[in-house]
Amino acid sequence: MRAIILFGPPGSGKGTQAKLLRECLDVPHVSTGDMLRERVRQDIENGARMAAKMQAGALVNDDIVNRLVEERLSQPDAAPGFILDGYPRTVQQAEHIRRWFDAGGIREVVVSLAVDYNEIITRLTGRRQCPACGTLYNLVSKPPRQDESCDLDGQGLVIRDDDREEVVRERLENYERQTRPVLEYFRSTGSSVRQIEAGNQPPEQIARRICAVLEEGFQENGSLLESRGKSAENR
Ligand code: AMP
Repeated sequence: MRAIILFGPPGSGKGTQAKLLRECLDVPHVSTGDMLRERVRQDIENGARMAAKMQAGALVNDDIVNRLVEERLSQPDAAPGFILDGYPRTVQQAEHIRRWFDAGGIREVVVSLAVDYNEIITRLTGRRQCPACGTLYNLVSKPPRQDESCDLDGQGLVIRDDDREEVVRERLENYERQTRPVLEYFRSTGSSVRQIEAGNQPPEQIARRICAVLEEGFQENGSLLESRGKSAENR
Protein backbone atom coordinates (compact mmCIF):
# COMPACT_ATOMS: atom_id res chain seq x y z
CA MET A 1 0.00 0.00 0.00
CA ARG A 2 1.42 3.36 -1.06
CA ALA A 3 -0.29 5.97 1.14
CA ILE A 4 1.22 9.40 0.60
CA ILE A 5 0.29 12.70 2.16
CA LEU A 6 1.65 15.66 0.20
CA PHE A 7 1.91 18.44 2.70
CA GLY A 8 2.81 22.11 2.31
CA PRO A 9 1.45 25.65 2.17
CA PRO A 10 -0.88 26.72 -0.64
CA GLY A 11 1.23 27.34 -3.73
CA SER A 12 4.03 24.97 -2.70
CA GLY A 13 3.33 22.84 -5.79
CA LYS A 14 1.41 19.94 -4.24
CA GLY A 15 -0.96 19.63 -7.21
CA THR A 16 1.85 19.79 -9.78
CA GLN A 17 3.91 17.23 -7.86
CA ALA A 18 0.96 14.88 -7.38
CA LYS A 19 0.58 14.75 -11.17
CA LEU A 20 4.33 14.32 -11.83
CA LEU A 21 4.62 11.55 -9.23
CA ARG A 22 2.63 9.32 -11.56
CA GLU A 23 6.03 8.71 -13.21
CA CYS A 24 7.06 6.62 -10.23
CA LEU A 25 3.71 5.73 -8.63
CA ASP A 26 0.55 4.61 -10.34
CA VAL A 27 -1.98 5.54 -7.66
CA PRO A 28 -4.88 8.05 -7.75
CA HIS A 29 -4.35 11.71 -6.92
CA VAL A 30 -6.93 12.76 -4.32
CA SER A 31 -7.18 16.55 -4.07
CA THR A 32 -9.76 17.89 -1.62
CA GLY A 33 -9.58 21.33 -3.30
CA ASP A 34 -10.55 19.74 -6.67
CA MET A 35 -13.31 17.65 -5.04
CA LEU A 36 -14.76 20.70 -3.27
CA ARG A 37 -14.60 22.87 -6.40
CA GLU A 38 -16.46 20.15 -8.30
CA ARG A 39 -19.17 20.06 -5.62
CA VAL A 40 -19.51 23.83 -5.77
CA ARG A 41 -19.76 23.65 -9.58
CA GLN A 42 -22.52 21.06 -9.36
CA ASP A 43 -24.09 22.92 -6.43
CA ILE A 44 -24.22 19.76 -4.30
CA GLU A 45 -25.07 20.09 -0.59
CA ASN A 46 -24.41 23.64 0.68
CA GLY A 47 -22.50 24.52 -2.52
CA ALA A 48 -23.02 28.27 -2.11
CA ARG A 49 -21.87 28.31 1.52
CA MET A 50 -18.78 26.29 0.67
CA ALA A 51 -17.99 28.57 -2.28
CA ALA A 52 -18.13 31.64 -0.02
CA LYS A 53 -15.64 30.07 2.41
CA MET A 54 -13.30 28.99 -0.37
CA GLN A 55 -13.38 32.41 -2.02
CA ALA A 56 -12.48 34.02 1.29
CA GLY A 57 -9.52 31.67 1.75
CA ALA A 58 -11.11 29.97 4.79
CA LEU A 59 -11.35 26.25 5.42
CA VAL A 60 -14.46 24.17 4.78
CA ASN A 61 -15.97 22.30 7.74
CA ASP A 62 -13.89 19.30 8.91
CA ASP A 63 -16.82 16.86 8.93
CA ILE A 64 -17.67 17.51 5.27
CA VAL A 65 -14.07 17.08 4.13
CA ASN A 66 -13.45 14.01 6.31
CA ARG A 67 -16.52 12.29 4.85
CA LEU A 68 -15.53 13.16 1.26
CA VAL A 69 -12.01 11.78 1.74
CA GLU A 70 -13.18 8.59 3.42
CA GLU A 71 -15.63 7.92 0.60
CA ARG A 72 -12.96 8.56 -2.02
CA LEU A 73 -10.30 6.39 -0.35
CA SER A 74 -12.80 3.54 -0.06
CA GLN A 75 -13.12 3.30 -3.86
CA PRO A 76 -11.47 0.20 -5.38
CA ASP A 77 -8.94 2.21 -7.42
CA ALA A 78 -7.45 3.56 -4.15
CA ALA A 79 -6.81 0.06 -2.75
CA PRO A 80 -3.13 -0.04 -3.93
CA GLY A 81 -2.55 3.46 -2.56
CA PHE A 82 -3.23 7.15 -3.11
CA ILE A 83 -1.65 10.60 -3.01
CA LEU A 84 -3.52 12.96 -0.70
CA ASP A 85 -3.15 16.60 -1.75
CA GLY A 86 -4.54 19.36 0.49
CA TYR A 87 -5.69 17.00 3.24
CA PRO A 88 -5.45 16.82 6.23
CA ARG A 89 -5.41 20.56 6.86
CA THR A 90 -6.36 20.63 10.55
CA VAL A 91 -5.29 18.49 13.52
CA GLN A 92 -8.90 17.27 13.78
CA GLN A 93 -8.71 16.02 10.16
CA ALA A 94 -5.31 14.42 10.86
CA GLU A 95 -6.65 12.58 13.91
CA HIS A 96 -9.63 11.43 11.90
CA ILE A 97 -7.63 10.03 8.99
CA ARG A 98 -5.06 8.50 11.33
CA ARG A 99 -7.85 6.47 13.02
CA TRP A 100 -9.03 5.38 9.57
CA PHE A 101 -5.46 4.41 8.54
CA ASP A 102 -4.89 2.52 11.79
CA ALA A 103 -8.14 0.59 11.34
CA GLY A 104 -6.97 -0.47 7.86
CA GLY A 105 -3.34 -1.19 8.87
CA ILE A 106 -2.14 1.63 6.61
CA ARG A 107 1.15 3.43 7.29
CA GLU A 108 1.47 6.71 5.49
CA VAL A 109 4.53 8.63 4.32
CA VAL A 110 4.20 12.40 4.74
CA VAL A 111 6.14 14.51 2.22
CA SER A 112 6.39 18.11 3.34
CA LEU A 113 7.19 20.68 0.62
CA ALA A 114 9.05 23.74 1.90
CA VAL A 115 8.89 26.99 -0.11
CA ASP A 116 9.65 30.58 0.87
CA TYR A 117 6.45 32.64 1.42
CA ASN A 118 7.54 35.52 -0.86
CA GLU A 119 7.99 33.03 -3.67
CA ILE A 120 4.53 31.57 -2.94
CA ILE A 121 2.88 34.97 -3.18
CA THR A 122 4.59 35.63 -6.54
CA ARG A 123 3.61 32.16 -7.80
CA LEU A 124 -0.04 32.27 -6.77
CA THR A 125 -0.83 35.84 -7.74
CA GLY A 126 0.73 35.12 -11.18
CA ARG A 127 -1.45 32.06 -11.80
CA ARG A 128 -4.00 32.41 -14.64
CA GLN A 129 -6.48 30.02 -16.22
CA CYS A 130 -8.36 29.86 -19.49
CA PRO A 131 -12.08 29.97 -18.64
CA ALA A 132 -12.90 27.97 -21.79
CA CYS A 133 -10.43 25.05 -21.86
CA GLY A 134 -9.01 25.18 -18.30
CA THR A 135 -5.32 25.42 -19.37
CA LEU A 136 -3.19 26.83 -16.55
CA TYR A 137 -0.54 29.51 -17.05
CA ASN A 138 1.76 31.49 -14.81
CA LEU A 139 2.78 35.02 -15.76
CA VAL A 140 6.25 34.36 -14.29
CA SER A 141 7.09 30.73 -14.98
CA LYS A 142 4.74 29.74 -17.84
CA PRO A 143 3.44 32.87 -19.57
CA PRO A 144 1.01 32.70 -22.49
CA ARG A 145 2.44 33.69 -25.90
CA GLN A 146 0.15 36.74 -26.10
CA ASP A 147 -0.69 39.07 -23.26
CA GLU A 148 -3.06 37.22 -20.92
CA SER A 149 -4.84 35.21 -23.67
CA CYS A 150 -4.96 31.44 -24.03
CA ASP A 151 -2.45 29.98 -26.52
CA LEU A 152 -5.00 27.38 -27.58
CA ASP A 153 -8.21 29.35 -28.10
CA GLY A 154 -7.36 33.06 -27.62
CA GLN A 155 -9.79 33.48 -24.67
CA GLY A 156 -8.86 36.15 -22.09
CA LEU A 157 -7.27 34.43 -19.07
CA VAL A 158 -8.81 34.79 -15.61
CA ILE A 159 -7.44 34.71 -12.06
CA ARG A 160 -8.99 32.23 -9.59
CA ASP A 161 -10.84 34.16 -6.86
CA ASP A 162 -8.69 32.63 -4.15
CA ASP A 163 -5.42 33.54 -5.96
CA ARG A 164 -5.98 37.29 -5.40
CA GLU A 165 -3.23 38.74 -3.24
CA GLU A 166 -5.39 39.57 -0.18
CA VAL A 167 -6.90 36.07 -0.27
CA VAL A 168 -3.48 34.44 -0.73
CA ARG A 169 -2.25 36.22 2.42
CA GLU A 170 -5.35 35.03 4.29
CA ARG A 171 -4.73 31.45 3.09
CA LEU A 172 -1.11 31.61 4.28
CA GLU A 173 -2.21 32.90 7.70
CA ASN A 174 -4.74 30.09 7.98
CA TYR A 175 -2.02 27.65 7.01
CA GLU A 176 0.27 28.86 9.80
CA ARG A 177 -2.49 28.78 12.40
CA GLN A 178 -4.48 25.68 11.47
CA THR A 179 -2.41 23.51 9.14
CA ARG A 180 1.24 23.71 10.16
CA PRO A 181 0.44 22.00 13.53
CA VAL A 182 -0.64 18.93 11.51
CA LEU A 183 3.02 18.28 10.69
CA GLU A 184 3.90 18.27 14.39
CA TYR A 185 0.99 15.90 14.99
CA PHE A 186 2.35 13.42 12.42
CA ARG A 187 5.90 13.75 13.78
CA SER A 188 4.77 13.20 17.36
CA THR A 189 2.73 10.11 16.46
CA GLY A 190 5.65 8.39 14.71
CA SER A 191 4.73 8.84 11.04
CA SER A 192 7.46 8.89 8.45
CA VAL A 193 7.81 12.62 7.66
CA ARG A 194 10.19 13.77 4.90
CA GLN A 195 10.96 17.39 4.12
CA ILE A 196 11.78 18.50 0.57
CA GLU A 197 13.06 21.94 -0.42
CA ALA A 198 10.66 22.80 -3.23
CA GLY A 199 11.49 26.40 -4.19
CA ASN A 200 13.07 27.72 -7.37
CA GLN A 201 13.80 24.42 -9.11
CA PRO A 202 12.24 22.70 -12.10
CA PRO A 203 9.21 20.67 -10.92
CA GLU A 204 10.53 17.51 -12.63
CA GLN A 205 13.71 17.67 -10.55
CA ILE A 206 11.70 18.04 -7.33
CA ALA A 207 9.50 15.09 -8.37
CA ARG A 208 12.58 12.87 -8.84
CA ARG A 209 13.76 13.75 -5.34
CA ILE A 210 10.33 12.98 -3.89
CA CYS A 211 10.27 9.58 -5.63
CA ALA A 212 13.64 8.69 -4.09
CA VAL A 213 12.55 9.82 -0.64
CA LEU A 214 9.28 7.87 -0.92
CA GLU A 215 11.10 4.65 -1.70
CA GLU A 216 13.14 5.06 1.50
CA GLY A 217 10.01 5.91 3.48
CA PHE A 218 8.14 2.83 2.29
CA GLN A 219 11.09 0.57 3.01
CA GLU A 220 11.21 1.99 6.50
CA ASN A 221 7.45 1.47 6.92
CA GLY A 222 7.78 -2.10 5.64
CA SER A 223 10.45 -2.95 8.18
CA LEU A 224 8.45 -1.29 10.92
CA LEU A 225 5.43 -3.40 10.04
CA GLU A 226 7.60 -6.51 9.86
CA SER A 227 9.11 -5.91 13.28
CA ARG A 228 5.65 -5.20 14.67
CA GLY A 229 4.44 -8.50 13.18
CA LYS A 230 7.39 -10.40 14.70
CA SER A 231 6.86 -8.97 18.15
CA ALA A 232 3.18 -9.93 17.91
CA GLU A 233 4.20 -13.53 16.96
CA ASN A 234 6.60 -13.72 19.90
CA ARG A 235 3.95 -12.77 22.38
P1 AMP B 1 -6.64 23.97 -2.65
O1 AMP B 1 -6.98 23.83 -4.11
O2 AMP B 1 -6.11 22.71 -2.05
O3 AMP B 1 -5.80 25.17 -2.35
O4 AMP B 1 -8.05 24.21 -1.89
C1 AMP B 1 -8.88 25.30 -2.22
C2 AMP B 1 -9.82 25.61 -1.06
O5 AMP B 1 -10.65 24.47 -0.77
C3 AMP B 1 -9.12 25.90 0.27
O6 AMP B 1 -8.69 27.26 0.35
C4 AMP B 1 -10.23 25.59 1.26
O7 AMP B 1 -11.21 26.60 1.28
C5 AMP B 1 -10.87 24.35 0.63
N1 AMP B 1 -10.21 23.11 1.11
C6 AMP B 1 -9.43 22.25 0.39
N2 AMP B 1 -9.00 21.22 1.14
C7 AMP B 1 -9.53 21.42 2.39
C8 AMP B 1 -9.44 20.72 3.61
N3 AMP B 1 -8.69 19.60 3.74
N4 AMP B 1 -10.12 21.21 4.68
C9 AMP B 1 -10.87 22.33 4.58
N5 AMP B 1 -10.98 23.06 3.46
C10 AMP B 1 -10.32 22.61 2.36
